[in-house]
Amino acid sequence: MSLAFADRNIAAQPSIAACVRDVTQKELPQLVDAIDKGSLYPADFLRAIGAAGAFAGHTKADASVDLNPTIDAMSEVSEVCGATGFMTWCQDTLVWYIANTENDELKSALLAKTASGAQLGGTGLSNPMKSFFGIEKLKLKGKRVDGGYSVSGALPWVSNLGDDHMFGTIFEREDGEKVMFIADCANPNIDLLPCDPFLAMDGTGTYGIHFKDAFVPDSLVLAHAAMPFVKKIRAGFILLQAGMAVGVTRDCISIMERTKSSLGHVNKFLNMQQPEDFTQSLMTLDKEVRDLASMPYETSASFWRRVVQARLDAGDLTMAAAHATMLHTGARGYLMSNRAQRRMREAYFVGIVTPATKQLHKMLAEMND
Ligand SMILES: Cc1cc2nc3c(=O)[nH]c(=O)nc-3n(C[C@H](O)[C@H](O)[C@H](O)COP(=O)(O)OP(=O)(O)OC[C@H]3O[C@@H](n4cnc5c(N)ncnc54)[C@H](O)[C@@H]3O)c2cc1C
Repeated sequence: MSLAFADRNIAAQPSIAACVRDVTQKELPQLVDAIDKGSLYPADFLRAIGAAGAFAGHTKADASVDLNPTIDAMSEVSEVCGATGFMTWCQDTLVWYIANTENDELKSALLAKTASGAQLGGTGLSNPMKSFFGIEKLKLKGKRVDGGYSVSGALPWVSNLGDDHMFGTIFEREDGEKVMFIADCANPNIDLLPCDPFLAMDGTGTYGIHFKDAFVPDSLVLAHAAMPFVKKIRAGFILLQAGMAVGVTRDCISIMERTKSSLGHVNKFLNMQQPEDFTQSLMTLDKEVRDLASMPYETSASFWRRVVQARLDAGDLTMAAAHATMLHTGARGYLMSNRAQRRMREAYFVGIVTPATKQLHKMLAEMND
């Protein structure tokens, strides 16, 4: 049943998902342990799936754009490794920002490079996304200087980074205007500080970022007025995360299925936690995401509510499936060599990465006010 589900996705978008699946199945399984332990940041693998088209399905930022090919590709990666699925999402958001900018100089310099994976990078929008919903204050401040801006401040965690990487984020000007831009990690006034070790996500190239009067040229500004730009890209930013949820959940279902031959006689008493239940929920989620992801520029309030609800459902489903996977797998799932426990650690990240479960509940509650 879960395989049929996977095949259905591939049938919908054969070219990108099938190509990425091919590279992923060949190259990722042998890297997963090192990524999980944090001894490897898989830059070469990310470039390889980039060459297979993983980040290029959503570069046409017009009414015809459909995020489903990109989500399908990400789900193939996440089915094998959630941390690498997260890095895939980071790269996809960077591409999404650049695809949507009206800064033609920036677009022609970076769109093809990021979409192919030649230029790697990510997103530092957690703090801005939380600030827009009243959870915390914007951490980066900027002032106008000749030919660009001077930016200072710190972001606690930004992933899929290295010395020659780039990421999209937002600062606040002295007059309150917000500016969205691409930060270039090669800038000597932007420091990447190693973080304390992470659970499950230690191989994701995650750093604390310090800006010390870093010069951001106008050529790297995505939008001098960030708020309308954020409104345009926010549904895509959130919907793309479905690729992580679908992939991890699909593998959880497959792990549960495989316990049936030896433990089915007792696992059947896990009420409402059967692989068939999760397959059903996954198909419902997939249908909703597929619909929403085919029109990411829709502006109605009801569309935005559906996006937020789908994102919440995606996190909840992933965490529930991973929880059930642990119960189905039993003692052997507790072995460090068993991927059930890795899936559990990865699944919680789907629930805590911005917009986190608690933020999504807050957003929905405030829509009701
Ligand atoms: C492994 C990992 C990778 C991440 N990658 C990215 C990324 O690529 N881009 C991005 O924008 N965000 C990233 N984040 C942040 C993530 O998206 C969430 O914002 C974060 O997990 C917290 O969300 P929350 O809503 O639960 O906030 P809460 O946990 O409720 O609050 C988080 C806030 O508390 C403060 N805080 C708590 N602990 C620390 C600490 N140790 N150091 C500094 N500040 C702290 C900070 O102000 C922080 O914003 C990453 C987080 C993790 C754990």
